[in-house]
Amino acid sequence: MPPFAVRFRRFTSLNTTIRLREGEIHVSLSDLLEGAPESVIHAIAHILLAKLYKKPIDAAQNLRYKRFASSAAVAHQTELVRAARGNKRFFGPEGRFYHLEEVFDSLNTRFFGGLLGRPQLTWSEQFAKHSLGHYDAALNTIVVSRVFDRPSSPRYAIEYLLYHEMLHLKHPVRMRGLRRCVHSREFKAEEALFPQLKEALSFIRRL
Ligand SMILES: [Zn+2]
Repeated sequence: MPPFAVRFRRFTSLNTTIRLREGEIHVSLSDLLEGAPESVIHAIAHILLAKLYKKPIDAAQNLRYKRFASSAAVAHQTELVRAARGNKRFFGPEGRFYHLEEVFDSLNTRFFGGLLGRPQLTWSEQFAKHSLGHYDAALNTIVVSRVFDRPSSPRYAIEYLLYHEMLHLKHPVRMRGLRRCVHSREFKAEEALFPQLKEALSFIRRL
């Protein structure tokens, strides 16, 4: 069995990652999971190892984790919603054509094994083209420009944009020396896995 390096980090959501690097397994868990009961930690270990070795995930373990995560996330979200509601810039996830929570959940299942904690999602106030999307770590909120909430905007475009912001959740900003590393090598490699990357980028260039 390879050696394990496990650490709890200050994620604003329930982010969990596992990597095999130079024969060592690195696990990062959100500090929101730090007080979780042992059975939940056990379930997380099972899910992560199954993902790493591409083995089936036991349904009971998955359920145990999901149940804990939703209750922990709900408690955490309640606080954040309160913070966000006090903020005039919160317009909610429901657009005219796309519902950001629905898009987020489908991407979470397709690309993240359902393991990303859902942050606050909101459309922007304006049809902004200078800022298409950003993740505000302090408010744990992803803001998406309304330019993507139109019938002429294909689903892959908003999916790509949200996928990019979700990678920011998964790969928090690190300091490399004195420089903030926003789009790390791992970030870019994972972004390249998006199936319609080329089409999405060309749509965005034409906005
Ligand atoms: Zn970015």
